Amino acid sequence: MSIVVQKFGGSSVADPDKIRKVAQNIARGYDKGNQVVVVISAMGDTTDDLINLAHKITDQPESREMDVLLSTGEIVSSALLTMALHKLGYKAISLSGRQAGILTDSSFSKAKILKVESDRIVKELNDGKIVIVAGFQGITHDSDMTTLGRGGSDTTAVALAISLKARVCEKLTDVDGIYTADPRICPDARKLKEIGYDEMLELTSSGNKVLHIRAVELAGAYGMPILVASSFNDSPGTLIHGGDLMEISNKVRGIAHDLDVAKVTLTGIPNQPGIAAAIFEPLAKAGISVDTIVQNAFMENVTDLTFTVSRGDLKKANDVINAIARDIKAAEVVTDAKLGKVSIVGTGMQNSPGYASKMFTALSKAGINILLITTSEIRITCIIEEAKVKEAILALHRAFELEKV
Ligand code: ASP
Ligand code: MG
Repeated sequence: MSIVVQKFGGSSVADPDKIRKVAQNIARGYDKGNQVVVVISAMGDTTDDLINLAHKITDQPESREMDVLLSTGEIVSSALLTMALHKLGYKAISLSGRQAGILTDSSFSKAKILKVESDRIVKELNDGKIVIVAGFQGITHDSDMTTLGRGGSDTTAVALAISLKARVCEKLTDVDGIYTADPRICPDARKLKEIGYDEMLELTSSGNKVLHIRAVELAGAYGMPILVASSFNDSPGTLIHGGDLMEISNKVRGIAHDLDVAKVTLTGIPNQPGIAAAIFEPLAKAGISVDTIVQNAFMENVTDLTFTVSRGDLKKANDVINAIARDIKAAEVVTDAKLGKVSIVGTGMQNSPGYASKMFTALSKAGINILLITTSEIRITCIIEEAKVKEAILALHRAFELEKV
């Protein structure tokens, strides 16, 4: 018998009817002869509601208490789903992160999984039970509750799948796979049958929100296949895996976009060693995560440096950078909050020239101005005005003929 780990997101268990449907779905998988472990998110917007509730009590809740509060969301859904399975006549048991043996470090609200001690899960499976695990949570060495960061249930699911040597980790959600572009924006987007870990990692870090990035990293590191499919119907999903890919005829595999981009430019930076460190150390200390960084060559001993952050971090970043600008005697700080980015991704781009020029030509033909460009070996990203992102996706999808996938 093989073990399957299934993860259902909050939208799939948003109300009692949906919980009943998910229970039926799980029961079908069990009836096929699998041992089934389910990782569940909190119902609907529960996590957001709990965060808002905490902020009605205090502006600055302690992160330890926040994790105690947030971990209740997944406890509720795990118990209700288990009850729904009982009602259908199945043997099932809910386990908290602690009971499931998810051990983490103690960085509250963004804890990393250190180890999974899965004996309890194995015992329950061998007892013929379906095991429902509360996602997104774990426990420290000192028995404190932790959470893994927003969207962290995906990471719980992959970690359990690895520890249990599952055949596959299934992510069942309201989108039924990974598409060549966001199908809500691009009507010609096609569902991919399969995609490699590297490509999925680039798509995820460039704005595709189907999976938590740490889940993709972890799956890639251990070679655990992830199937992304619908929680509502049986249409075939997308398999993310590390084997040979069959569909490599089209070298650009997908387009990702992100509408949450703000940029900070520091001009007139003097040419001295240590300047970049002087800029980025305080940003890191302030907990601001910086995405793209572009520094120009020095001209007459001064240069400009631009970096991007998420919009929510712009004010903090601006404050930090203004203080630094005074210290290092830079000329000025300019910010822009209304940006977005589009990226093309595909391992086939490695060592093949022509992708960048094709991308830039397609954007220029669509009248779209490129503000910044960054690349990795298998990705090219353009930062553009937020208002142009949709047009950019459509133009690139056509230019790379992704409708033919
Ligand atoms: N409930 C948590 C969140 O909304 C974790 C998850 O859904 O994966 O972020
Ligand atoms: Mg959620």
